[in-house]
Amino acid sequence: MSECLFCKIIAGDIPSTKVYEDELVLAFRDIAPQAPTHILVIPKAHISGVSAITKENSAVVAHIFQVIPTIAAQEGLTNGFRVVSNCGDHAGQTVHHLHFHILGGKQLNLEMA
Ligand code: AMP
Repeated sequence: MSECLFCKIIAGDIPSTKVYEDELVLAFRDIAPQAPTHILVIPKAHISGVSAITKENSAVVAHIFQVIPTIAAQEGLTNGFRVVSNCGDHAGQTVHHLHFHILGGKQLNLEMA
């Protein structure tokens, strides 16, 4: 997946501000934050988005949701946070590598769409 932006970030070819990393996932600060804290959590293995999650590759998704509370605690998001994954054009997905946005640090807009 040499043309994938997030694969290039994982490879270190494009810089990022890393907040968490283990053998399966990387988390880094969004370059255009939509909230005081805005972090992206991505699997190191390329999955194009939520619609490409399968029985075979979904273990990393469970792992991501296991590390999200650790990242949130590390970031001091004690008053709560939102986890979002945009999938496809109608949702506004711009990077086709599965990612979960962690948003927090203020009272977030309650509208879902
Ligand atoms: P989405 O629009 O849901 O696909 O989210 C993609 C996100 O990636 C957006 O919030 C962008 O601001 C973010 N983004 C794009 N390029 C970079 C980058 N080089 N480093 C960090 N975040 C990025």
